[in-house]
Order: sequence, then structure tokens, then C-alpha cells
Amino acid sequence: MSASNVAESSSKRRVAVVTGAASGIGWATAERLSADGDVVVCLDREVSGLDDRVAGLVGEAIVQQCDVTDETSVDAAVAAVRERFGVVDLLANVAGVATAAQTADVAIDEWQRILDVNLTGTFLMTQRFLPLLSEGGTGSVVNVASVAGLRGWRYMAAYSASKGGVVALSRSLAVEFGGRGVRVNCVCPGGVDTPLAAGLPTVPDADPALLQRTQPLITPAVAQPEEIAAAIAYLASPDARMMTGSVLVIDGGLLA
Ligand code: NAD
Repeated sequence: MSASNVAESSSKRRVAVVTGAASGIGWATAERLSADGDVVVCLDREVSGLDDRVAGLVGEAIVQQCDVTDETSVDAAVAAVRERFGVVDLLANVAGVATAAQTADVAIDEWQRILDVNLTGTFLMTQRFLPLLSEGGTGSVVNVASVAGLRGWRYMAAYSASKGGVVALSRSLAVEFGGRGVRVNCVCPGGVDTPLAAGLPTVPDADPALLQRTQPLITPAVAQPEEIAAAIAYLASPDARMMTGSVLVIDGGLLA
């Protein structure tokens, strides 16, 4: 683990672990939580150049390479965070992958990759960080799902299934862990301006009527990553003390 920032850890500052922190919503979440005064642990599978960016954050922050699908990698992250901070106050499971294709063209390896990162990775991270989360009696988990997990989404069967799974997983864990003082919520963004969204391939022979089916009411139609980070910060804050098992939709009215 590489230390990046100058400020010393304080027992009063919350410790927030963010996956997918190298890009998009994850990076915006790291920036937001740091600005709010949290110590931020930035995890990502791909961390090249992240140390330099993290050095520019407001408070103490550290970087650790972590693949959320890999038990050894996740356990190493838990051990490193335990050694350095002892407890975790917030786990934001943001890491995710997406693709778009006609369902007939989805190879089983691709289906599995999407499920592994989005759903199994969220489960594994939460399972392994739970002992550190419940230590202080006020831990919080925020999972990033998607409106595609709440409504049928064209040409994204694997992604939709994975995100629907994240919604159900979040609710299940909220029920199981509520008595231990750990709140579990999820956010469901619509379109967000990130490399993930920009990288979605054009689907051959796509039906225009299906593409039109999922349009938000608000323009511009795409959210900024900071707007999703703000929702994550809220759900993790004491203001959301009564929220657990909640599904917070941030979609510009798409599901309205
Ligand atoms: P992004 O591609 O900008 O960032 C995703 C990050 O996750 C990357 O840094 C990537 O390296 C990391 N990552 C991928 N696989 C990983 C793994 N196995 N282990 C650790 N890190 C891994 O994408 P984003 O748009 O910021 O997406 C963040 C989350 O938001 C995802 O869960 C995505 O499904 C969800 N989401 C995005 C949108 C959108 O329109 N962008 C909409 C709804 C939900």
C-alpha cells in the first residue's frame, strides 16, 4: 500500500473505502468524501497514475491495487486497511463493468465477467470488510447498482441481471446487518458521463424503438459523476441514519 497524502490520521475522521476509485463515479466519490473530511482508501484493479491524483486530494488518502473479483486481492486489501486504520466507517462498492450486445451474441465468458465484477465483487468486498465495518457500530455500505437493475434494459441482459442482483443483495444485507449497526443502501443511476458509458459499443441491428424506451425527462439527460457521488455521500452520512435497504434512484426521471 502506498501512502499518498500528508495529513495524519485522526481517530475522529471517518475511514471510507471506495472501489473503482480510479475512474468515473468512483473517483468523484473519493474526491467528495475527501472534501467532506474522510480518510479515503482508493481501491481499483488499475491504479497506474492514481497515486499522483490522490496526492491532490484534500485529506489523507491511500491507494491499493485490488481486484474485487479476486479473494486473495480483497483479503490483502482488508489486511492492509486493518493494519493501518483498524476500522472502516464506509464501504462504497462502485467498481463495475458493462457491455452491450444482442443477447444471442453474448459469450458465456462475457456474461460471467459482468456478473463476477458487478455482483460477486460487491458481495465479496462486503463480506470481507464487514468485520471492520461493524467494529465501530455505525458502519455503512453504499452499493452502486443501476436503473438497469430495476427495469428491463435492451441489449444489456448480463449488466441488468448483475445490477438487479446488487439491488437484492443490498436489501438482503441491510436486513442481516441492521442489528449490528451496519446500514446497507444502494444508488441506481441512469446515464452518467463516464468512460464506462462512453465505451459502450453500438449494438448491430439494434431496434430504434427499444433504444427510445429509456429516456430521462431532464435535460441534459446525462448526470455528472459528482451528482452520484453526492448521493453516496448522503447515504453514508448521519443525515441518512434512518435509511437502510433503500434504493436511491438518480435518473433524471427515467423511471418516473
Ligand atoms: P468507469 O469505467 O469510469 O469506472 C469503473 C472503475 O471500476 C474503473 O476504474 C475500473 O478499473 C474499475 N474496475 C473494473 N473492474 C474492477 C475490478 N474487478 N476490481 C476493481 N476495480 C475494477 O465506470 P463508472 O461509470 O464510473 O461506473 C461506476 C459504477 O457505476 C459501475 O458499477 C457502473 O455499473 C455504475 N453505473 C454507471 C452508469 C453510467 O452511465 N456511467 C450508470 C449506472 C450505473
